[in-house]
Amino acid sequence: MLYVFVGSKANDNSWKLENVQLLDKYNVRNPSKGTLYFATTHLIFVDHEMRKETWILLMHISSVERLPITTTGSPLLVRTKTFQSVFFVIPRERDCHEMHQTLLRLSQPVHIEELYCFHYKSTPDDLPKSAGWNFFDIQTEYQRMNVPNEHWVLCNANKDYELCDTYPSEVYVPARASTAILLGSASFRSRGRLPVLAYLHHNKAAITRCSQPLSGFSARCMEDEQMLDLIRRANPNCDYMYVVDTRPRINAMVNRAAGKGYENEAFYENIKFQFMGIGNIHVMRKSLQKLVETCEQNTPSMSSFLSGLESSGWLKHIKSILDTSWWIACAVASGASVCVHCSDGWDRTAQACSLAALCLDPHYRTINGYQVPHRYLDCVRVRVRVRALLRRRDRTARACSLAALCLDPHYRTINGYQVPHHYLDCVRVRVRVRALLRRRDRTARACSLDALCFVPHYRTINRYQEKIERVREMMSFLVQALIEKDWLSFGHKFSSRCGHVACDGRERSPVFTQLLDCTWQLLRQAPEAFQFNERFLLTLHDHAHACQYGTFIGNCEKDRRDLRLSERTFSLWGYMASHLNEYKNPLYNPKAHPDILKPELSAQNIRFWRGMYCRHESGVHPREPLHDLLPAAVEHASALRHHINYLAKRISTFRNLLSGKNAEKSRESAVVNYQNGNIDTVDIETKTEDLQIDNKLLYESVGGLSELECANHDHPLKEGLTSVTKPNNIPLITERVEDYIPASFSQLESEVNTVALDWKSVKNVTECSCSTPLDHYSRKHHCWGCGRCVCTRCVCRRAPLPALAAPRHAPLCAACAPSSPDVLSPAS
Ligand SMILES: [Zn+2]
Ligand SMILES: [Zn+2]
Repeated sequence: MLYVFVGSKANDNSWKLENVQLLDKYNVRNPSKGTLYFATTHLIFVDHEMRKETWILLMHISSVERLPITTTGSPLLVRTKTFQSVFFVIPRERDCHEMHQTLLRLSQPVHIEELYCFHYKSTPDDLPKSAGWNFFDIQTEYQRMNVPNEHWVLCNANKDYELCDTYPSEVYVPARASTAILLGSASFRSRGRLPVLAYLHHNKAAITRCSQPLSGFSARCMEDEQMLDLIRRANPNCDYMYVVDTRPRINAMVNRAAGKGYENEAFYENIKFQFMGIGNIHVMRKSLQKLVETCEQNTPSMSSFLSGLESSGWLKHIKSILDTSWWIACAVASGASVCVHCSDGWDRTAQACSLAALCLDPHYRTINGYQVPHRYLDCVRVRVRVRALLRRRDRTARACSLAALCLDPHYRTINGYQVPHHYLDCVRVRVRVRALLRRRDRTARACSLDALCFVPHYRTINRYQEKIERVREMMSFLVQALIEKDWLSFGHKFSSRCGHVACDGRERSPVFTQLLDCTWQLLRQAPEAFQFNERFLLTLHDHAHACQYGTFIGNCEKDRRDLRLSERTFSLWGYMASHLNEYKNPLYNPKAHPDILKPELSAQNIRFWRGMYCRHESGVHPREPLHDLLPAAVEHASALRHHINYLAKRISTFRNLLSGKNAEKSRESAVVNYQNGNIDTVDIETKTEDLQIDNKLLYESVGGLSELECANHDHPLKEGLTSVTKPNNIPLITERVEDYIPASFSQLESEVNTVALDWKSVKNVTECSCSTPLDHYSRKHHCWGCGRCVCTRCVCRRAPLPALAAPRHAPLCAACAPSSPDVLSPAS
């Protein structure tokens, strides 16, 4: 990569410029003075006096503007795609000019191969490159919708992208559509984007998508007419279908002059045609520009903010997208199929199809399917799935041994990053689940699934299953499924719309930002319907622009294959899956909206998304965001619970000592068996684990007995461990009070004090103890040792705390974590 030489060299990879002023819009009178560094990926301003750093990712820079020279120097306005605006004042004009040129060049590489994702190397602790690329599988996603079926089939005609090069290689079309019809229809649609299945509702009504027909004023195409008719017939419950043109009527009319246009109801049988009013990419780009200018105002008055917001038209556009999507969702819910298009069918169409599906299918509103209070349903689901898995495997290859699990890359990919661990887990769980199924059948045929809920033994087995399910569920990281399907597979020009590489500025447009904005509107209205939180949407937004991961590079599936992104770059989904905890919405309750989510689309309900467009303004956000407060409270309660258990054990130890029982006996009685004891404790334990531990850490956090010891007798890996003979009702979670008893009162006191009783409030926390800045949108965790707020990186430090029952591995800050090898880092 290339570096241009501004100022003086700071080290091998960076250049610096001294005496630069940073103008804060709230503090124009006292600009902060410091040094500006150019690093490989970031522009970093360091205010030495205030010890404050401002980091700007070069790829996030959307514009760099030179302003008229003042007495103090040359001002430069840097705007980012994440809605940050920064004024620098540079003493010398020549430096300012060079910096301007350099930033322009670095923020917009000419060749796609220069993008950061092709050079990005993660740390050894992170996930391997392959993680995340296989989470989504288009066939699995359609299978979930029961496709293929008698009406819809997988079509191979686009295997090598001959039919349409911006579509996925696997497209689903009506079963009766012949190759001639497909070819004819593709040739009559803009860019060959023929109507194909995007979503199938359980009532057999479908959402199909395409681009505008090349109809001009009077052209017809028999195959295209047949194609739409076949789509209509694929839904046996309705004798008509809707064709929705998401454009305003006038735009579609204009297109007719260019030989394009819309479907003529007189030619297409039984269609009902409908125009919507979503503006084109240029309207949206200008609207966002005005919105950004409004947000940039220095301490705006109420009226200037409101009039700026109004004249940008942004909320009106958001509403028009939501209106269109809800219209489509209603039509589908009422049983009619809908065919959606705009001009090329990759901007407005993608928005409308995704949001309609989001309203129709609760599935798309989850990150992963698992939720603690709904464990019963989950158990059922897991068992059905495991059964299906076993059945399928038996069918395809009866002789298939467990070793095949090792050979079959599919299973390995489920395991993702922790291959050896998860592989063993899979084996163990499957053996045990099989044994479970067998035993259940033998002992009590009529035994209902409820037992699963009440017998802790089964629950503990399911704890293993959960881990695997969790990794498996990541494949159906479901919003991901929606974005993968509607945006990445069916083509959206991310490279041009997000301005990844230097190109025509008029191709840029906040189409994806609008999808996230619309989703946020729904999330705000019905927070209990979504498993993910606002941070999840912001992360998607920022990474779609950042180019650190290969996920959003290129414009369609073919581009991504040609660039071999899955081999050469990391996947954003892999990264997000290992930080799942940060994206969980604590208010989520799948029972609240088990079916269609009905949005409130009256004008009063469409809000300005301060969290997105004003996120860099300190002081305008709530000081204690609920999405941090709630998980922290739950986790704190659980830490206290573990501490209570420890104290109770200590008390009983001392009581026994005082009453003269011998130490041997006291140790025995101090064994706490949760199976016979307090089921609540088990519950809380699992609940906290779910809240506080990411997938990556799950494995490490299992305390107590080794899993192999818990496994059944027919466990293949158990040979050689014959000494471990246990009765059938093995107490699975057994915890011992450590044999060590503090020798003195002061030792006891310091042991007790290893756990913090009070936790620091998340309010006004600006920095982790490791000096990582914590802003409004960073997830704040707590150190169990001192109760201070720590960053996500620090929460990975775990060590056993003697004052917790177990003693459990608890999240600790850098100061509290012992520097012994006892500390678990994510890699161990
Ligand atoms: Zn600490
Ligand atoms: Zn930290």
